[in-house]
Amino acid sequence: MKELDYFAKQKEQYLDDLFELIRIPSITRDQKAVQEAANWLEKRLKDSADFVKQIPTQGNPVVIAEWKPQIIEISASKAPTTILFYGHYDVQPPDPLDKWHSPPFEPEIREGRIFARGVGDNKGQFFAHIAAIESVVKTEQLRTHVKLILDGEEELGSAHLDEAISKEIDFFRDVDLVVVSDGPADPTWKPTLEFGARGIVTIQLHLQTAKGDVHSGNFGGIQPNPVWDVITLLKTMRDDSGKCLIDGFYDDVFTPSEAAIKAVKNLNRDPEVYKEQLGISYFGEEQDQPLVHKLMFRPTFNIRGIGSGSVKEKARTVIPKEAYVEIDIRLVPNQEPEKIKQLFFNHIDRLKEENDQYKKILERCSFRSETSFYPMFTPIELPWTEKLERSIQNGYGEKPLLIPLAGGSLPLYSLYKATEKPMYIIPYAQPDEDNHAPNENLMVDWFYNGIKTSIYLLAELGRD
Ligand SMILES: [Zn+2]
Repeated sequence: MKELDYFAKQKEQYLDDLFELIRIPSITRDQKAVQEAANWLEKRLKDSADFVKQIPTQGNPVVIAEWKPQIIEISASKAPTTILFYGHYDVQPPDPLDKWHSPPFEPEIREGRIFARGVGDNKGQFFAHIAAIESVVKTEQLRTHVKLILDGEEELGSAHLDEAISKEIDFFRDVDLVVVSDGPADPTWKPTLEFGARGIVTIQLHLQTAKGDVHSGNFGGIQPNPVWDVITLLKTMRDDSGKCLIDGFYDDVFTPSEAAIKAVKNLNRDPEVYKEQLGISYFGEEQDQPLVHKLMFRPTFNIRGIGSGSVKEKARTVIPKEAYVEIDIRLVPNQEPEKIKQLFFNHIDRLKEENDQYKKILERCSFRSETSFYPMFTPIELPWTEKLERSIQNGYGEKPLLIPLAGGSLPLYSLYKATEKPMYIIPYAQPDEDNHAPNENLMVDWFYNGIKTSIYLLAELGRD
């Protein structure tokens, strides 16, 4: 394939170009550096794309680009496939700086890995798509319609992505499938194809029972203890077998298809490996669910933290005046963040009516809910699966693992709303990329295999 030969000659150059992009410290809250990265990308993309645009938003800009097919078969009965790639060019702050072995924005290769902030999350991964598209376009082999969207605020929750998309909604209308390369590959080091991600809702509860912390001897038995009171509330939300007791919580949970269940079984996840890896001796959450279902197909009701009083070296013998509880609910397909929030607050309202004690506690409670992401899931049975699998196998020299639902949440729902088309995640970073941590890195081989995968994918999509 001409495009692969071209890539082989350009390999070093692509690495240098990626380094140039990485040297721009586009930390998500640093508007100036983010803008510089957006400008760099716009200029770079103009070199090969038919259309490039920066979409300004209330936050950071979004960059879009488009390449029209160069070869259209006259006999082709249908229009060429349109693929949309998504990536994000903002990065996490590099702190703590003293933990880095080389400066975070001065990329360095050691033992086959590029070390730099943002190399895996996400510059190296989306740049692999750009390098692939360029290799195909420069050799005039493009048989598909290619679109690219680069988010500048993913690390802040993509708050303005919807705004950007709505300004250019026509750009997204003819998309047939969406491919995102982000996150690490499966911990087994196999190339990975993911069909979706869990969603999330977070809820914070603050209970203030009194004016101040008081001596637990002097006022014990008088001032109510907020820790006991939040425990009382939390106990109404989950039974001892790990089931969430909020009315309707499981109503919309999807039924995984045969293919999805088979894919998870094929992963051969060994319960003992989890026990060893996590240092646990038993599993949490719903006791009646098999491990494969708990891994991907069931929602979770998690307490991510409780804060009150002080312990250990700061311990004081007091009755604290307040308690904080933070809950995160991981959603699976068909569950909607707004509905789940509503069910949670319906539960609270019901408690108030149920008895006076709950009512008194809840009158001193305040609630907040900030994060929410929809779950996303693409059926494995669709014909794209085979094309994607084959491309990854050619790119990596190994069959990919098929993961129905990945753990992390991505802004996929915004893209889904605009396109209503299947979405796939193909991580091009190896499992120990250390994204968000010091010494973030991307293996050079994984970067190159990613470029090859995208090249093969563009060829696959150009075929009937
Ligand atoms: Zn990230």
